[in-house]
Amino acid sequence: MQDIQRPEPTAPAFFDRGEMDLIYADNAATTPVLPEVLDEMMPYFSEEFGNAASAYSLANKSRVAISRARESVARLIGAQPEEIFFTSGGTESDNWALRGAVNMRKDLGYRAHIVTSAIEHPAILRTCEEMQARKEADITYIPVDEDGVVSLKEVFDGIGPDTVLVSVMHSNNEIGTLEPVEEIAKAVAQARESRGSNAYFHTDAVQSVGHIPISVTKSGIDMLSASAHKFGGPKGIGFLYIRKGIPMRGLMRGGAQERGRRPGTENVPAIVGLGCAARLAAAQLEDRIKKEISLRDRLISRVLSEIPGSILNGPSGLRIPGNASFCFDGINGETLLMLMDNAGICASSGSACSTGALEPSHVLKAIGRTDLQASGSVRLSLSYRNTEGEIDRIAEVMKEKIEDLRKIGGR
Ligand SMILES: *Cc1c(COP(=O)(O)O)cnc(C)c1O
Repeated sequence: MQDIQRPEPTAPAFFDRGEMDLIYADNAATTPVLPEVLDEMMPYFSEEFGNAASAYSLANKSRVAISRARESVARLIGAQPEEIFFTSGGTESDNWALRGAVNMRKDLGYRAHIVTSAIEHPAILRTCEEMQARKEADITYIPVDEDGVVSLKEVFDGIGPDTVLVSVMHSNNEIGTLEPVEEIAKAVAQARESRGSNAYFHTDAVQSVGHIPISVTKSGIDMLSASAHKFGGPKGIGFLYIRKGIPMRGLMRGGAQERGRRPGTENVPAIVGLGCAARLAAAQLEDRIKKEISLRDRLISRVLSEIPGSILNGPSGLRIPGNASFCFDGINGETLLMLMDNAGICASSGSACSTGALEPSHVLKAIGRTDLQASGSVRLSLSYRNTEGEIDRIAEVMKEKIEDLRKIGGR
């Protein structure tokens, strides 16, 4: 591998950052594959290429690798291996949880009802909107408070006899809010007992798995979505945890892979990578969290104290370790991001590019930010691999660029 000659960069000189090191602060968008993960994946692209469904010993190596990965993933979230179903990532897992739950009810001849929050990832929200438009399900969207925390009372009150699923994310990808999942799980269980509801509790834990401790057993979670590329694994692989005994069918028909619930020849290298990323995360979790919280708090305190007209989005305490999200008065977040990019810093804004237009983030609006405030938002998602020096550089560049932008009117 080391012998491969890298081609000369072909990017135009304008984008050439020369010797400048890139500072990557967009870990909520994706993370690089960790070197140990890549090493473990490599043989499964070539020598160990067997189809896990075949009978010979070459195939057995793939089967063993898959089952080892399944155990690692199960251990990371306190589940049983047979409760883990590999998918193509967070989006597929979210779609499966929602559509699968609705299908369960449809099979019994009922129309389904889903309770979810106003600040979910588009993989949840767009799916809910489509099912509602097609009259396949009724959806109740639970509002959040100014920190982005869902209202427990409204979750509980929202559960009715037709409710098949409550889906609330474990932590928010834009503003980092940790949701009270244990309490929500309790509310769902209580509604099951007191009102004869058959609701299950699903959580999109894509931003949490591999970043903070999770136990589906202790937390009473029935289904959980996760994605490898958000915690040091490869893109295009993730999983859905489905508690044993829940009669969820798969969305696709095909072979017997994943106990018939998710057919299609297994992506063995990716599954191996996910398993390795899960093992590393489990072993390093405490150290990673400590480092990320210290970097994050350093950034937050520098930004809030040194940049006038800045506010933090999300709670000051109960947030995911690496997340720092801000709104800045009088500037456009997209412009600031371009200037930061020119200075070698990767971050993201709160605007989502939908239908070619920049729409203010639904999450920032849900916590009460105005459209104008939301247009001045920037999210930095840090990793334990960042350094204090990088944090200081980020703070200095942001301060300088925001001052420059304000001088010329902010846009
Ligand atoms: C990234 C993300 C997803 C989508 O995961 P993919 O693996 O990229 O499909 C879903 N939910 C949340 C909260 C995410 O951050």
